[in-house]
Amino acid sequence: MDCIFCKIIAGEIPSTKVYEDEQVLAFRDIQPAAPVHILVIPKQHISGCGAITAENSAVVAHIFEVIPQIAKQEGITDFRVVSNQGAEAGQTVHHLHFHILAGRTLKGMC
Ligand code: 5GP
Ligand code: ZN
Repeated sequence: MDCIFCKIIAGEIPSTKVYEDEQVLAFRDIQPAAPVHILVIPKQHISGCGAITAENSAVVAHIFEVIPQIAKQEGITDFRVVSNQGAEAGQTVHHLHFHILAGRTLKGMC
C-alpha cells in the first residue's frame, strides 16, 4: 500500500519518534505548525477518523490513553488534539492520525 505513515511504521521512511508501543507510534510532524507538533498514529492502517468502527476503535481509545503520557513526556499541560477527515477538512495523509499541538497560544478552530 502506498501510504507514507505505513512506511514510517515499517521504518522505510525515517521519523523522529517520541513514543512507540505494539499498537501506536508517535513522531514529530515534518512541518510543525507549533513548537510542539506530534502525530499519533495506529500501527494498523485505518484511512481516517471517518473509518473508525466498533471493530477497530480499541486502538483509538488506546491512543487517547497514550496522549497524556506524551504530553507529560513533552512537559506540556495545554495542548490541542486534531484529526482531519477528508480533503475539505485538510487531510493530506490517508492514515488515521491525531495531531498534538502545543507550545504557543492556539486561537480559533481552523
Ligand atoms: P493532515 O494534513 O493529513 O491532517 O496531516 C498530515 C501531516 O503529516 C502534516 O502535518 C504533514 O506535515 C505530516 N507529514 C507528511 N509527510 C510526513 C513525513 O514524511 N514525515 C513526518 N514526520 N510528517 C509528515
Ligand atoms: Zn497507512
